[in-house]
Amino acid sequence: MQTIDDLDVAGRRVLVRVDFNVPLDDAGDGTRRITDDGRIRAALPTIESLRSRGARVILVAHLGRPQGEAKPELSLAPAAARLSELLGAPVAFATDVIGDSAKTVVAALGDGDVALLENVRYDARETSKDAAERGALAAELASLADLFVSEGFGVVHREQASVTDVARLLPHAAGRLVLAEVEVFRKVLGDPDRPYAVVLGGSKVSDKLGVIENLLSSVDRLLVGGGMCFTFLAAQGKNVGSSLLEADQIETVKGLIATAEARGVELVLPVDVIVATAFAADADHKDVSVDDIEDGWMGLDIGPNSSALFAERLADAKTVVWNGPMGVFEMAPYAEGTRALADAITRVDGLTVVGGGDSAAAVRLLGIDESGFSHISTGGGASLEFLEGRTLPGIAVLED
Ligand code: ADP
Ligand code: MG
Repeated sequence: MQTIDDLDVAGRRVLVRVDFNVPLDDAGDGTRRITDDGRIRAALPTIESLRSRGARVILVAHLGRPQGEAKPELSLAPAAARLSELLGAPVAFATDVIGDSAKTVVAALGDGDVALLENVRYDARETSKDAAERGALAAELASLADLFVSEGFGVVHREQASVTDVARLLPHAAGRLVLAEVEVFRKVLGDPDRPYAVVLGGSKVSDKLGVIENLLSSVDRLLVGGGMCFTFLAAQGKNVGSSLLEADQIETVKGLIATAEARGVELVLPVDVIVATAFAADADHKDVSVDDIEDGWMGLDIGPNSSALFAERLADAKTVVWNGPMGVFEMAPYAEGTRALADAITRVDGLTVVGGGDSAAAVRLLGIDESGFSHISTGGGASLEFLEGRTLPGIAVLED
């Protein structure tokens, strides 16, 4: 895989696929405001390196799912403004993807200048299942540039025009972020220092079943919290009240529990949970043993005893991968399990990796020092597919 250091970029137009799919809210004055600019910051080293070497940088990205329509609330204009602040330099914004505005903006770029194209998913061909349609958009994107850099780790698991098809049309390289992500996940998958522990949480068991299955052949310890744990607890015959439960996955989870046992993987489940009477911050809530969850109560966080147990099972680990919050961290009463877990991971002396969009958001929202982790992945889906052992099309294409 080539890196940006292998490219001669001076004076050349470099199309860079970035992941600027940032969360936004209404500023109140009719404009949209970025609530977490982590993904924009993550692309800065690559953008700075290209600029400083005299490249004409053309950024392409998506925001949300406009489904082929120019939806103003999904415009990337706020990202251009934020990037400009972060770079301390102007960022030209094209109000279309491959139209007149894009062509004009690109033509006006000088060496070291930066432009951002409008949301590439305004063009339905970006995500088309039809390779010819995607290829047509990719050809138009490629005509704007001389070189391609893949820096959107959040989308490398997707077969999309600006991710894979355009890479087939231009000399290409991996950006710094993609390279760092790939190196970390290859280390974890191929040759993890042991004990190797994975902590899974979040809301969807079914999404993460493939990951668990693949991990059971490599991990030493698997810790499960978050909304996921209730399907495991139910599989052990416990009452989970009105907690999140994927009843149709109970049999599969029973199989996973048996596989873990057969392979000598230590499966660690919560021993207590914070239950509430409703999915609300102001609902009645209390800490109960997992054996005492009553009907009418739902588990919204792991309890303090579970946090202590999880911390203890991580203390001597040499590799830790964490995906998925331990509770509904967005509401203060149910954030302590996630906070305690994050703190425990920052105390681990080894390689520590946070994967998953909400987990990374939790780290920032809870004000946990990001430097306490070896690596915080910018790609939720992509990091999960890595852990599942799959080939990621956006990475494979860079290796040709
Ligand atoms: P990630 O993006 O890190 O992979 P997920 O998307 O799988 O994580 O899950 C994140 C969501 O899971 C969060 O919005 C959080 O509120 C929710 N969650 C965590 N624990 C619970 C729970 N016990 N019940 C319901 N939702 C939960
Ligand atoms: Mg998520």
